[in-house]
Amino acid sequence: MNEKKDFLRTIVEEDLKSGKCKEVVTRFPPEPNGFPHIGHAKSIALNFGIARDYNGHCNLRMDDTNPTTEDTKYVEALKDAVHWLGFEWEGSVRYTSDYFPQIYAYAIQLIKMGKAYVDSLTEEEIREYRGTVTQAGKRSKYAQRSIEENLDLFERMKRGEFKDGEHVLRAKIDMSAANMKMRDPLMYRIRHAEHFRAGNEWAVYPMYDFAHCLSDYIEGVSHSICTLEFENNRDIYDWVLETLELEPPRPYQHEFARLGMNYTVMSKRKLLELVEGKYVNGWDDPRLPTIAGYKRRGYTPESILTFCEQIGVAKANSMVDVSQLEFCIRDDLNTKVPRVMCVLDPIKVTIENYEGSEEIDASYYPHDVPKEGSRKLPFSREIYIERNDFMENPPKGYFRLTPEQPVRLKHAYIIACKEVVKDENGNVLEIKATYYPESKSGSDTSGIKVKSAIHWVSAAEAKEVEVRLYDRLYSAEAPEGIEDLNPDSLHIVSNALIEPAVITQKCDERFQFERQGYFYADPVDYSDEKPVFNKIVGLKDSWNKKSKKAEQAPKAPAKKEQIDGEVVPMTEAQEALYAKYTNTLGLNTEVANTLARDAQLSDFFEEALSAYNSPVNLANIITNDVARELKQMEVSALKFTAKEIASLVKLIDDATISSKIAKQVFEEMVKSGERPEQIVEDKGLVQISDPAQILPIIEEVIANNPDNVAKFKAGNNKLLGFFVGQVLKATGGKANPQVVNELVSNQLY
Ligand code: ATP
Ligand code: MG
Repeated sequence: MNEKKDFLRTIVEEDLKSGKCKEVVTRFPPEPNGFPHIGHAKSIALNFGIARDYNGHCNLRMDDTNPTTEDTKYVEALKDAVHWLGFEWEGSVRYTSDYFPQIYAYAIQLIKMGKAYVDSLTEEEIREYRGTVTQAGKRSKYAQRSIEENLDLFERMKRGEFKDGEHVLRAKIDMSAANMKMRDPLMYRIRHAEHFRAGNEWAVYPMYDFAHCLSDYIEGVSHSICTLEFENNRDIYDWVLETLELEPPRPYQHEFARLGMNYTVMSKRKLLELVEGKYVNGWDDPRLPTIAGYKRRGYTPESILTFCEQIGVAKANSMVDVSQLEFCIRDDLNTKVPRVMCVLDPIKVTIENYEGSEEIDASYYPHDVPKEGSRKLPFSREIYIERNDFMENPPKGYFRLTPEQPVRLKHAYIIACKEVVKDENGNVLEIKATYYPESKSGSDTSGIKVKSAIHWVSAAEAKEVEVRLYDRLYSAEAPEGIEDLNPDSLHIVSNALIEPAVITQKCDERFQFERQGYFYADPVDYSDEKPVFNKIVGLKDSWNKKSKKAEQAPKAPAKKEQIDGEVVPMTEAQEALYAKYTNTLGLNTEVANTLARDAQLSDFFEEALSAYNSPVNLANIITNDVARELKQMEVSALKFTAKEIASLVKLIDDATISSKIAKQVFEEMVKSGERPEQIVEDKGLVQISDPAQILPIIEEVIANNPDNVAKFKAGNNKLLGFFVGQVLKATGGKANPQVVNELVSNQLY
């Protein structure tokens, strides 16, 4: 499946071949200060996956060097997450805190070598002395201290004789290094705080830059894989290990792009805020992007791993569309789970010409799914259907039950509406109907044509259940904070009606509720008295649909109507295309399905592909953006050509523009018909990567946000993202995010 190796696996293979490493040892090193999220899943899949692929092993290490934020409940959550994703760490869980004595001994060794000193400048002075990107720093006068004095002071720091912040231990490297991180980085700080494992034994705690490389070395790690923000820290990593002249083999650090996803926040700090502020119900709230949240919602570990594989491993940060994750779970469950019927908003139908009752043998799976299993569906005179599956005055294109239009009850008979019973306000209370005895599903000789099939339950046997309908937690594509929360992210239906077999037969925990989506028996709140189901994901990408609707509200109805509840089989030609798209071109099933079924789209796609070979990116833009245009006009009326879409994708692929800017370029192509290259040039949309252009903007953002700068300097490292975001915003999204990231961290530290 993984025919294209990522760059990290390429490195690992080369290191094995050259003998640089004998055994592949990786580690997953979270800080236990929050529940792991989908970004951690990417790191877990990568570290454990590489170890597995090259017959090595992977350690689970708690990077617990910050006593004030860490807790054992987070350790448990991290262990759960790794296990749930199907991985096993080597030996027992490791803790950086277990290495404190060794790390301390290494610090003493550096002092004795004259390579580290106790500095007593204030925090502010330390920052001032560090200089800027364009200006060398100057060394503290305390760097002159004798080895004896340093040893004495460091020992007393450890014993707790000084206050927080009074002294620090620094490596003596180079105050004019181009890489600002190398300007005598801090190795230890004083913290009078109780550590959740080490208790009060230590009054000093090692900094990440000192502890991480040594922990890797102590564990025999060969490949230390981390995210891009640590690129500049790699020099310190190497300096420490080299200066201490540690016996080989030693670990090497490699960086990859962290996962970012739209409509999602992914920092533990922001997630903690949601949990503590009770905006969600705990760390495992099914709306959270935590692994515990996905697990409780009903995602399968397979779907998450497939997602991690699909998004790949890159060297440049990018934003992944959350609908890609939703595709993965839909795709996984599509052929796996039984299909059953549940009515969320019931309205009663009495079938007046039906007497008695019967049980219909109904398969749990459609014909094209190679799984077997069926249940008995009770059928009787009184049933419930979905309120919106009936309309008295339907608009054109409504295919379900109306006073004039019969409909099929899935697995059962065709019914027709005879009478509508209403209350004094005109609300429909009940529908009186008749059924056609000859129309039974599978042996229909009635000759009656219907346009759709709807789901239903038998009144007497249906069970009442609670259904929790989840939607995206944020309504903003790039959420900044709680102000962007989606007020409708949870909707509880407390009296939905479900067919009895789901409760009594318990054939699975996950189901497709016909025409509604995929659902999961809530692992915490489900009981026989009160069954509770979580909506995992809808059958289609409703957000895409919603936004399309909003954009083109008054437009004519779509050209092709899909009959609700019935999937039209593909023609042979369509099947062939579908097979090629999924197998050869590696498109996901949803995209392939859309393309294969639409000749206009697939022709357009093929033409673009012959101009430029980037199937996945082309298919995405064509099934989303181009398709939206084609809903409103014929191909011949479009102002852009397939070749031009190919050029647009090429601009993204070669990093001339970001994918965000590409949306803007596309809109312009739609309007003006101009070539993408021309638009990019005219509007000055080329990605800015030149530090000379970006630095002044960074300085301005820093000057305008003194509060956040102060918080950052007080240790709130997570604000880095805030600054990067502001700078990107100020450039209209044109700045190269990776460059901004680097420059911002240099300016702030
Ligand atoms: P956050 O900023 O969300 O709190 P973090 O980087 O502080 O995350 P750690 O617990 O320090 O979280 O991270 C553990 C491991 O997971 C690290 O190796 C880190 O690189 C990786 N990781 C964290 N977030 C992501 C992400 N979004 N994508 C990929 N890997 C990630
Ligand atoms: Mg961290």
